[in-house]
Amino acid sequence: MGKITGFLDYARQNNPAQPPQDRIEHWKEFHPRLSEADRRQQGARCMECGVPFCQSGIQLGGAYTGCPLHNLVPEWNDLLYTGNLPQALERLHKTNNFPEFTGRVCPALCEAACVCGLHGAPVTVKDNELGIVEEGFARGLIQPRIPAHRSGKRVAIVGSGPAGLAAADQLNQRGHQVTVFERDDRIGGLLTYGIPTMKLEKKYVQRRVELLEQEGITFVTGVDVGRDKSAQELLADYDAVLLCTGARQARDIQVPGREAKGVHLAMEYLTSVGRSYLNSKFKDGDFISAADKDVIVVGGGDTGNDCIGVALRQGCRSIHQMVKYPRQPDHRPAGNRWPEWPKVDRLDYSHEEAIAHFGEDPRIFASTVKEILMDEEGKVRGVKIVRLEGKKRDPKTGKLIMTEVAGSEEELPCQLLLVAIGFQGPESYVSQAFGVEVDGRTNLKTEDYATSVPGVFAAGDARRGQSLVVWAIEEGRSAARAVDRYLMGYTYL
Ligand SMILES: Cc1cc2nc3c(=O)[nH]c(=O)nc-3n(C[C@H](O)[C@H](O)[C@H](O)COP(=O)(O)OP(=O)(O)OC[C@H]3O[C@@H](n4cnc5c(N)ncnc54)[C@H](O)[C@@H]3O)c2cc1C
Ligand code: SF4
Repeated sequence: MGKITGFLDYARQNNPAQPPQDRIEHWKEFHPRLSEADRRQQGARCMECGVPFCQSGIQLGGAYTGCPLHNLVPEWNDLLYTGNLPQALERLHKTNNFPEFTGRVCPALCEAACVCGLHGAPVTVKDNELGIVEEGFARGLIQPRIPAHRSGKRVAIVGSGPAGLAAADQLNQRGHQVTVFERDDRIGGLLTYGIPTMKLEKKYVQRRVELLEQEGITFVTGVDVGRDKSAQELLADYDAVLLCTGARQARDIQVPGREAKGVHLAMEYLTSVGRSYLNSKFKDGDFISAADKDVIVVGGGDTGNDCIGVALRQGCRSIHQMVKYPRQPDHRPAGNRWPEWPKVDRLDYSHEEAIAHFGEDPRIFASTVKEILMDEEGKVRGVKIVRLEGKKRDPKTGKLIMTEVAGSEEELPCQLLLVAIGFQGPESYVSQAFGVEVDGRTNLKTEDYATSVPGVFAAGDARRGQSLVVWAIEEGRSAARAVDRYLMGYTYL
């Protein structure tokens, strides 16, 4: 601990954010980073606690808290403060293959568990992480690491999201020959097509993929395993196969009028916009547009929030978000104590933008869509929404059981309705092609990341269900360990 009184001397300072009204005019990231001197000062706020909950990644009170990667947060905060960037970078990369992704999009489970946050403002762990890795890239400290020895073993990874990429990196560094198969036209999974560009510019994904390629990983795009390439072919050509195919089976709404034109799953919308931006900066016109439309987003999660950010940038006329549950309190309720994940209301970036642009919070809490109204051409022209109330809790999950409030229906104008109510699990054709068992939630069933078929492993959202980038990286690393043990009889990964 370089600066003993750092947490008393310096106030928390986040990376600044461009004002919402300005940033909705463009598609770029909007968080300029602090100067190096200010960033080092933020590192000084870390107290290097004897028991650093920030790196615990444990389940408390039904939710995870602390970093799932067990990032060595106090170590690299101290190295940041003392100006030892190469060492800080080395400690950061030791547990996290891609800090430039988590430093941008992670919900920072670490900060929720930071001891400084118990009575004051937590350390800016996420921003510090991003500062270290980006400064590392800027100073040329991150160079291809070509493995000195090759094991002669071949591993196929199906899916190039953060889980597949983290596993590929680990296995390649161990000396195995890794090929990543991706059905899409670009590498990155939801990092590329899913998370919008203003949260994570795709040049950063590309930069890391190029490094991995230089280090010896082979990437093959446009190959849909289970359809274009059979499971038998992969099993014959490789010593092990790792399935990191994500959990893309979207949940849909079942209401009258669902078939109306202008009703889309959130991922159809986000992918079309993301792809057109990357291909032509929208010149090809090949995307779903919210321009001049009244937009309704069904679903109060991150995906729905991203739909709002994108629709605002496209110039929507109005926007509302149907959120199933009541608004969470502003402060931790009794029984939700530090260092548990705080069950409080969170205003996401896109909500701030909607409030700045339209003057009101787009969220309509405890509500849902009851019916989609169509015009004579079959296009959505409005929605009938209904208010919900939760009087009882599910005894198993503890979640509120929401029921309709009689007579609370109202109509809202709508020409674009986006369904963002979550994902049901992985698409079944991959598990069927390999003949691997799935669990009760249709996720790929594993024991220590090994599926029911010898030599076939699974990781990421395909195994644990829709989750977070940080969890996908953790899963990729853990699965790499299991694959390595299978191939070599032991592992030191
Ligand atoms: C809109 C949206 C926003 C999100 N925002 C955040 C955020 O801000 N922060 C955060 O931490 N998390 C966020 N998430 C969650 C996060 O992106 C995922 O948890 C994470 O990407 C999962 O990684 P994965 O590698 O398991 O799967 P994915 O990223 O889904 O990648 C799976 C890949 O497998 C490929 N694939 C599937 N089947 C085949 C096949 N048969 N053959 C070849 N390739 C195949 C897919 O094309 C895809 O590229 C968001 C998710 C969504 C949908
Ligand atoms: S990966 Fe996420 S949880 Fe872990 S230290 Fe970084 S910001 Fe915190």
